[in-house]
Amino acid sequence: MYVRLRVFAALSLALPCGAAFAEIAPLIEVIPAEKATADFAFASVPRPSASDAASVARLSIVAGQADANSGSVKTLQDGQLPENDDQPARNVFFAPGTRGGRVLVELREPADIQQINTYSWHPADRAPQVYRVYGDAGDSDKRVPARRRDSAADAGWTLIATVDTRPVDGAPGGQHGVSIAGSEEQPIGRHRRLLFEIERTQDRDQWGLTFFSELDVVDGNEYEPQPEIREIATLDIDGGYTITFDTTDTPELKSWVDSKLQPVCREWYPKIVAMFPSDGYDAPRTFSVTFHADMDGVAFCRGTEVHCAGRWFRQNLEGEAAGAVVHEMVHVVQQYGRTRGGNRNPGWLVEGVADYVRWCLYEPESLRPRPDPERAKYTDSYRTTGAFLAWIADRHGEDAVRMLNTAMREGTYAPHVWERATGATVDELWETYAASLRGK
Ligand SMILES: [Zn+2]
Repeated sequence: MYVRLRVFAALSLALPCGAAFAEIAPLIEVIPAEKATADFAFASVPRPSASDAASVARLSIVAGQADANSGSVKTLQDGQLPENDDQPARNVFFAPGTRGGRVLVELREPADIQQINTYSWHPADRAPQVYRVYGDAGDSDKRVPARRRDSAADAGWTLIATVDTRPVDGAPGGQHGVSIAGSEEQPIGRHRRLLFEIERTQDRDQWGLTFFSELDVVDGNEYEPQPEIREIATLDIDGGYTITFDTTDTPELKSWVDSKLQPVCREWYPKIVAMFPSDGYDAPRTFSVTFHADMDGVAFCRGTEVHCAGRWFRQNLEGEAAGAVVHEMVHVVQQYGRTRGGNRNPGWLVEGVADYVRWCLYEPESLRPRPDPERAKYTDSYRTTGAFLAWIADRHGEDAVRMLNTAMREGTYAPHVWERATGATVDELWETYAASLRGK
């Protein structure tokens, strides 16, 4: 088997004062595409491990967007390797056209790290690895730099090694193994967290995002991966409702969930249920709210599951975060998916009902949306439709909105429902509403 080894000279020569700050030269080994097998049988780089410290660590993508076909970050720690050179679900890789991203590894406790080993496999440009790895020197208070222009070094992280396995010439494909190993003269040091800043491998096209197969952190101990223990808070509300809040993936949100979100849900879920009753309908007695570390967007509701993007919530705790959950609770109560009548509900009205409750009833008056009558239309959805429904509730009573909801829940929605509820067509109503906005 042909194995190419490249060992770079230590960069410590350039840093005469303080070997502790010098980078460690990685050992890089490439098995050519035609020789690579599912055994990851490197000659010098250690074989991937399923019992290293990273296999029981918490991994998360803290910057960048994973490709829709990528495996979850757990793929990097489970010791399960791809069986061939193009198996997306067994790898972690960032979305096409992006510049890469950052992966945070949080060990259970600070450890004297002996090795950091990374593995990748692909027939072409997605095989090479280009990254820098930083450690937090055992101090967990350092900020995690989550934006590209935000440098880990500025945030106080220690650069451990710079890795670039791209061949100087020749084909980039194959199995790439990297071992960053400390020595007595140059230890990796004691760290609880590691931050990988991953770059794309080429700019020619949008596909230069590495297929990372496994990431190992060796501290000399063997770890037995345990079944996952989830962090779930249960809220029991008068009236027999139960809401669960899962912050396993986002421990930093737990105190906000307990102190701010739970009281909001306690007050508002029964209110929303009472707002939208219909014959023979029982709103869900129980639903879940789960926060995800690597989800994009804001939040969505599927049946009785509300899913929230941890990143967005972290950035909006003082502002719109609780309101976003109020919006999703309206979807839990709507349950239009169960309709038997067969008519399609207009998406703008579904979202309008949710935003009517959120922006016009839950949020303070000062945040009420004010649509621009020259540009807005009731079909604009979300806030605009929500404000329109609030105006209808003021003029025609809350029963009018209730009738629209009932029709959508029963699958009998049709334009004439507006006339039945208010005595006017939706276009007539909008004209009157827009005129009232112009008059203000
Ligand atoms: Zn919605």
